[in-house]
Amino acid sequence: MPLLVGIDDTDSLQGMCTTHVAAELVCRVEGLDLIGYPRLVRLNPNIPWKTRGNGALCLAFGEGRGVPFRVGEDGGEALMAYPAAAPAARSRDLEEVALETVMELADLRDGEAQPGLVVSRRRPPASLYWTAVREVVPWKAVEPHLRRADFHAAPRGRRGLIGALAALAWRPEDRTFEVLAYRPEEAWGSPRRVRKEDVQALDLRFPTTFNNYDEENDYMATVPHSPCPVLLGIRGDVASDLPKALMTVRTEAMSRWLLYETNQATDDHLVDRAVAELRPHVSATVEGVVAAPPKTLQGGHVIFPLANSGEVDCVAYEPTKGFRHVVRRLHPGDLVRVRGSVRDVPRSLNLEKVEVVRLGTRTEKVANPTCPTCRRRMKSLGREAGFRCRFCRARAPPAAARHRRVDRDLRLGPYEPPVVARRHLSRPLRRGPR
Ligand code: ZN
Repeated sequence: MPLLVGIDDTDSLQGMCTTHVAAELVCRVEGLDLIGYPRLVRLNPNIPWKTRGNGALCLAFGEGRGVPFRVGEDGGEALMAYPAAAPAARSRDLEEVALETVMELADLRDGEAQPGLVVSRRRPPASLYWTAVREVVPWKAVEPHLRRADFHAAPRGRRGLIGALAALAWRPEDRTFEVLAYRPEEAWGSPRRVRKEDVQALDLRFPTTFNNYDEENDYMATVPHSPCPVLLGIRGDVASDLPKALMTVRTEAMSRWLLYETNQATDDHLVDRAVAELRPHVSATVEGVVAAPPKTLQGGHVIFPLANSGEVDCVAYEPTKGFRHVVRRLHPGDLVRVRGSVRDVPRSLNLEKVEVVRLGTRTEKVANPTCPTCRRRMKSLGREAGFRCRFCRARAPPAAARHRRVDRDLRLGPYEPPVVARRHLSRPLRRGPR
């Protein structure tokens, strides 16, 4: 086992970025090889104290074995990694340089950030990762793993240690990659210069990439919109395509780039749950029947109740833009599978995806029934109240009216919000079914 370095919670809303700390560390470590791709591990997106992306990092160092491969470039020099490593001894030098880098670059101006650093030759069990991406990890669940680590530091509180250990615990089942390009320090905070046409062309030029550009909203999802050191990031399924894709995008000067193996776009945060099992801070896949017509709320959010031994309101928020048009076309009786995160108050499911499994029959009234005796058109007694004959006073139930089947303007299959509104962990439909 190599030396594993876990780093978490060094970014903040003011804009540093945990990946920048990791990239800097990769460049600063001497005398040890990088083993495997650096890993960017997104954790539960519904944790209330998360910063922007709730991403933690795992880097492995050691004495490399096998044929090295390029994972990045720094100031024109290739950054290499090895596929395997010899068993590692504890390294005080690595611990020292890692701590120095975190202390120097973590954004300690932000009162919320609690950077965590762990160096360990043991990988915590996979269950720690699964809990951290799907639920809230209690402190007592990480304590034993921390004791077995070579070194840990948490200068502002222990929260970051949970994410750091969870990043070490990730064993990729489904995985994607992201190449991140960084700006030289003097450019931080200034508007980024990235050629839009080149980003727009990525989907076609590199079919294994995704979440590049949002046509509907004219938005470059590859470019961060915070003052962080990242210039742009391109996500995809095939690692070797990403540096090539990066080179096709004309940009301002970049100081370095680095390829990350990530759990982004995997839906790892989702668990099948019944309505009764929905708790705050979790995400879920729920199958159920649309129980009432969707309504548009003030602010443009669209909401409908979903029934499955209990009812929960499902909400497509305004920023999901065109996705709401799909949700509005749902009708009572439709069977759907929804994916999303649970909001506590008011209890609802914030939609990340909707799959239409079966369309219910939708009918509209064409005419009132005719009286069986008088052969005349009956009169409505009001909504749901049925009909009455004006001549013989005979009554008929609401269902006696003549109905016509309405063609549905909705196809079966999965739907997702536009690129602009997608979460890091949400698996885009472009990746195909899991
Ligand atoms: Zn009659």
